Amino acid sequence: MAKATVGRGQWGRAWYVNAKTVIGILLLLTVIPLMVFYFYAAAFGYGGSLLEMAHGVVDGTAWYQLPSFSWEALQVLVVWLVFQLFLAVIPDYLHRLLGWYQGGWLLGAMTPAGNRLWYNINGLQAWVISHLFFIIAAVWLGWFSPTVIFDHWGGLLLWANCLAFSLAVFAYVKAYLFPSHPEDRKFSGSWLYDFYMGVELNPRVGPIDLKLFFNGRPGIVAWTLINLSFAAEQYHLYGYVTNSMLLVNLLQGLYVLYFFYKESWYLNTIDIHHDHFGCYFAFGDCVWLPFMYTLQGLYLVFHPVDLSAGYALFVLLLGLLGFAIFMNANNQKDGFRRTDGSKEIWGKKPACIAAEYSTQDGQTRQSKLLTSGWWGIGRHMNYTGDLILSLSYSLACGFDHLFPYFYFIFISILLVHRCLRDEHRCYSKYGVAWEEYCAKVPYRLIPGVF
Ligand code: NDP
Repeated sequence: MAKATVGRGQWGRAWYVNAKTVIGILLLLTVIPLMVFYFYAAAFGYGGSLLEMAHGVVDGTAWYQLPSFSWEALQVLVVWLVFQLFLAVIPDYLHRLLGWYQGGWLLGAMTPAGNRLWYNINGLQAWVISHLFFIIAAVWLGWFSPTVIFDHWGGLLLWANCLAFSLAVFAYVKAYLFPSHPEDRKFSGSWLYDFYMGVELNPRVGPIDLKLFFNGRPGIVAWTLINLSFAAEQYHLYGYVTNSMLLVNLLQGLYVLYFFYKESWYLNTIDIHHDHFGCYFAFGDCVWLPFMYTLQGLYLVFHPVDLSAGYALFVLLLGLLGFAIFMNANNQKDGFRRTDGSKEIWGKKPACIAAEYSTQDGQTRQSKLLTSGWWGIGRHMNYTGDLILSLSYSLACGFDHLFPYFYFIFISILLVHRCLRDEHRCYSKYGVAWEEYCAKVPYRLIPGVF
């Protein structure tokens, strides 16, 4: 194992805030919510044509496609949130009684202030119980229609925005009035930046970790139910479900299921390690993910696409390839970190670079950078797998409109930006050890290219 140290600076979220940053945040706060409504209206009013929607904006007809508030939609949202909160705090022994206890309490990574927090990992149970409940209640008992989510889509969008902005304000005020771990807060000097990017690293309210809960529960558990509801609506409208809709449900379902099956890996991601909880997460969790990550399914409701068997097989295989790389790369890093480098990778003991970093309490701590498996081929091959999988969701929708490709374009920008952001942070944290890793593994996402 090679050893490298020195050259380490401040790490965790540290960003220089200037006038450009503030303007950027003001733009994000206005443009991003408008974009969600734009896509909503393009789907419901213009069959998924972004261009026709643009004409609608110009001639004023698009405004008639905007959703209106509905108390029923509010009820759906409140019931869903309360149900997910209950499943998140449900006592561990209940899971043990069920016989398929998943994770239990796991220790997270060291925070910049030197804290290590415990997390209740029970997302798989929440996902399974939620889906069983939905299917039994909607299909078997007939308590509500399986299209219930689609039926209230507009109202849900409005209330989800209210929830997101209320949550962001709550997180900001909480950081000042009753912070969970005061020494892990970050103040940039700009209240707008702090409001948007968050102050607290790990805000908690009672047994609920706000970041783990909102990033990982109401929105992601709902993702697969939303897709099911879109499939049900397609059936309702056309009398059958297209193979493109089945592919989108299957491939996105794999992604979601993996997230919960190996929820422990999520504790080793940037979201949990470094990002603070503010408007960025609140809006992303409550609005962006449920309403924009599901665009393919929504598109297929208004624009059913029947794929040839050969093309459908190609999309399926591409998606499975992306999923395999994504899953395998994330598992390798998680296993490596969790077993302190003793878990074999591709039949061999993993190679790594020893690195040191400092926490705010002045202590020097040890870490390791994996250089075997996918992490020896590229520095972010988990992103590469994610991108291939995302492309397959879009390809499943054919080539008539740009609408279903939005997610792929968005995730490409997000992951490339995230890659650069992460590398900046890793360099601040590990100094020359990170440089050594970059020299040994020179490419990020596409070996030989980038
Ligand atoms: P990673 O899981 O790649 O985590 C990056 C962190 O891992 C670094 O900050 C560093 O943290 C550690 N690390 C980096 N290189 C090494 C190495 N060689 N050996 C050991 N540890 C290393 O990134 P993300 O958290 O961004 O993503 C996790 C997954 O989630 C990805 O597959 C991504 O595609 C997916 N994702 C999906 C999104 C979506 O919206 N669909 C959004 C974001 C991510 P440390 O400080 O611990 O060393």
